[in-house]
Formats: sequence, structure tokens, C-alpha cells
Amino acid sequence: MNKAIIQERVNEFIDRSKDLGIKVTPQRIAIYRELASTDQHPSTEIIYKKIKDYYPNISLTTVYRTLETFEKLGLISVVNVLYNAARYDANLSPHHHIVCTECKKVEDVYDDSLNNLDISNKTLGDYKVEGYSLLLSGVCKSCGSN
Ligand SMILES: [Zn+2]
Ligand SMILES: [Zn+2]
Repeated sequence: MNKAIIQERVNEFIDRSKDLGIKVTPQRIAIYRELASTDQHPSTEIIYKKIKDYYPNISLTTVYRTLETFEKLGLISVVNVLYNAARYDANLSPHHHIVCTECKKVEDVYDDSLNNLDISNKTLGDYKVEGYSLLLSGVCKSCGSN
């Protein structure tokens, strides 16, 4: 991914964290940067393995809790993948996801036709729907189609 985009995301993250009044530690920035550097929607463990290269004392629990905190504050989003652990996304622009049922790869889906489903602003039961994101599933090219 383009370094300028990563840096832009990191700067925005720092600004938003300050606005929210949460501490911006080098370790937190490192965790965010790992997530912002990829569009692979990594799991906590994958981020942890990368961070461990330069923060050898960090624990998986710390990474897990940090990501959870970021998610609660709306700094990142979580992609819930069936049969798998939570996967995280630093990309907060509206988009959908497709998951490979074989290798569990998660990719972004941008498709205008999916943005125009007649769901938003509808009232469903007790809810007024304000937005939605779809999680599609299928088998990716490298896993074959059978
Ligand atoms: Zn696959
Ligand atoms: Zn995404």
C-alpha cells in the first residue's frame, strides 16, 4: 500500500485519538499502523506477530484489547467473519466485504448496486436502519471453484 496513504491514515488516527482524549502511545500507533498498512483485514494474531518483531515484550492480550478499544471508539471497524475470529479494518469508508470460505481471505467489495439496496432509512421492526454493510461469501480464484 502507498506510504503516503498509510501516513495520512496514521496522522488522522492520532488527531482523532487526541480529540477522543485517549493516550497516543508509540505502541498504539504501531498497532494502528500495522492495520492501516494492509487491506487484508488481519486478525488480532496476525497483527500481533508483526508487532512482536519490534515490540518483543508485547502480549497478544494487549494487542487484542487495543484493537477492541479502537473499534469501540470508531477508529477502526471490525469485520465479522463466520467460523473465524474478528478481522479488523482501518478503512472506514463505506464498503462491503467478501470472504473466501476456504482460505478465509477477506477482500473489499465496492459495488454501487450494493449501495442502492432499499434498506437504509427503512424501519425494520423496532429499528430505523441507518446503514448496512454486506458480507458476501464465496471461493477465491486461488482456492479453485469447487
Ligand atoms: Zn481462498
Ligand atoms: Zn474492508
